[in-house]
Amino acid sequence: MTRRQAIKTTALATAVAATAPQTFSQGQPPLVTGQPLITTSSPASAYPFVLPPLPYAVDALEPHIDAQTMEIHHGRHHKAYVDNLNKALASWPEYSTLKYHGNLEQNLRALDSFPENIRTAVRNNGGGHYNHSLFWQMMKKNGGGEPKAELAKAVESSFGNFSDFKTKFGEAAAKVFGSGWAWLIVTPDKRLEIVARPNQDTPISGTLNESRIERPRTEILLGLDVWEHAYYLKYQNKRADYIAAWWNVVNWDFVAERYAKLAK
Ligand code: MN
Repeated sequence: MTRRQAIKTTALATAVAATAPQTFSQGQPPLVTGQPLITTSSPASAYPFVLPPLPYAVDALEPHIDAQTMEIHHGRHHKAYVDNLNKALASWPEYSTLKYHGNLEQNLRALDSFPENIRTAVRNNGGGHYNHSLFWQMMKKNGGGEPKAELAKAVESSFGNFSDFKTKFGEAAAKVFGSGWAWLIVTPDKRLEIVARPNQDTPISGTLNESRIERPRTEILLGLDVWEHAYYLKYQNKRADYIAAWWNVVNWDFVAERYAKLAK
């Protein structure tokens, strides 16, 4: 990069940083545009993949998740997954011939479509991009509380009551050894289940050598990132405190919306 380019890039980044929080805090759609966030109905952005903007200001989840953590988590960690995914796919020209070219969700459901050397990159970085794109939407300012309506009933019939669900989910998150996630999923036979996965392995990937493209299939409702990068600045080694605080920012409306779509 030349000095001129560097100045230009820095100026742009500064401009974005200066305008974004102000825009987000008004509750307006962000000025910074990107690919649509991953949802059940639009499962992935097109290739090359891009970093979706946060759906709120970096300080929106304070005091539970601090602004600096959000900034680094989204702007550096998530961005690195996107960049490394694109880099790996660019090195494999056959990607353009895949049936689900540019559809990250389907790519993750069928990891064995990729040659071994590319598969690891898709699993780690594609999983990272997919998981984080969902994770940002699973949280919101003034979130927390309890699920309502159909989702509440489903949680109760699967786990007894909401409090027991919280305990079980929190335990699954606490027990992840090293880096990983706890997930609330809908299984192919439509049961709610709590699972833990290491690294960026996403539960929609299932196990290899089985058809995961067509329904029935596993779907994600809620996930909690327990990589240290998600909490270390504020909570240091106290993962349990981070988990306890995280319940205050859960966006149950988003989870309920996903559940309603999946239950149809
Ligand atoms: Mn993360």
